[in-house]
Amino acid sequence: MEGTDVTAAPGFFKPITGSVMPRFAGLATLMRLPYVQAHDPEFADVEIGLVGIPWDGGTTNRPGARHGPRQVRDISTMIRNVNRASGIAPFSLCNCADLGDTPVNPVDLMDSLARIETFFNGVCGAGIAPLSVGGDHLVSLPVMRAIVKQTGPLGMVHFDAHTDTWDGYFGGFKYTHGTPFRRAVEEGLLDPKRTVQIGIRGALYSDAEDTWGQEQGIRVIDIDEFNALGVEGTIAEARRVVGDGATYLSFDVDALDPVYAPGTGTPEIGGMTTLQAQHVVRGLQGLNLVGGDVVEVSPPFDPSGNTALVGATMMFEILCVLADSVRKRRG
Ligand code: MN
Ligand code: MN
Repeated sequence: MEGTDVTAAPGFFKPITGSVMPRFAGLATLMRLPYVQAHDPEFADVEIGLVGIPWDGGTTNRPGARHGPRQVRDISTMIRNVNRASGIAPFSLCNCADLGDTPVNPVDLMDSLARIETFFNGVCGAGIAPLSVGGDHLVSLPVMRAIVKQTGPLGMVHFDAHTDTWDGYFGGFKYTHGTPFRRAVEEGLLDPKRTVQIGIRGALYSDAEDTWGQEQGIRVIDIDEFNALGVEGTIAEARRVVGDGATYLSFDVDALDPVYAPGTGTPEIGGMTTLQAQHVVRGLQGLNLVGGDVVEVSPPFDPSGNTALVGATMMFEILCVLADSVRKRRG
């Protein structure tokens, strides 16, 4: 009974409760949070900003992730207030808001990276921790560029079927959704020795594809090791790798088996389940998380809309861990 949910008490930064406005009604914002723009007076009070990045210009194969934020916004109206498993009520811990979509230029990749970074400079410069929904995986790069100006180099827990540390495509072009974390290491945004990649699998272009990252010190937990370690062992190893420093969480929905998330550009069979992914994210509570993203939701490949539900729900799981971390930093 949502009407008896104490966390749905009115307040500017509280989601609109389904007992007042039915979930199918009203304007769709991420998790039914208020929409706050940088010029609004409430912007200064936002602690966690949910942001859409409607852009897939870094996609090398099947596009469509530009449509991710709008469908995730719609389906995220299903999200409620309290994480049943962890007990975390993120909207009671922190002021959360939907900051809207970043500006993008669908016909100019480099201009889009600049526009996205500029947007997040404003967010991070205001002390707001970003939690974004893409968009293809290249969007993590401009987000990290903005965060690092506040925090210094980041550790990262990265869920994906792919390492995304390829060097270049199409004659050495450096910026695609297969390259963001190589660029992030090169630019000093990401500390490879505090980076763990979980769920990696699938065929490679060559057996050299994965070696660069591991030479830098990235800890790769491929899907076979994930299954050997189990959820608890994976959590322990991820926590060991990233330690206490500022950490980013990046969740590519293709980390999941395509039976759970078919709506993505580069699916790989043999992936983790949604429940396993939820358990691993919950197990990261207590890390020094400074931001996160969910990427590669491509609605055109999933007419059922379930991949967007998966994306919205994983975003909520990440939000719970992030809100706990933001609250602890605030003191
Ligand atoms: Mn990826
Ligand atoms: Mn991937």
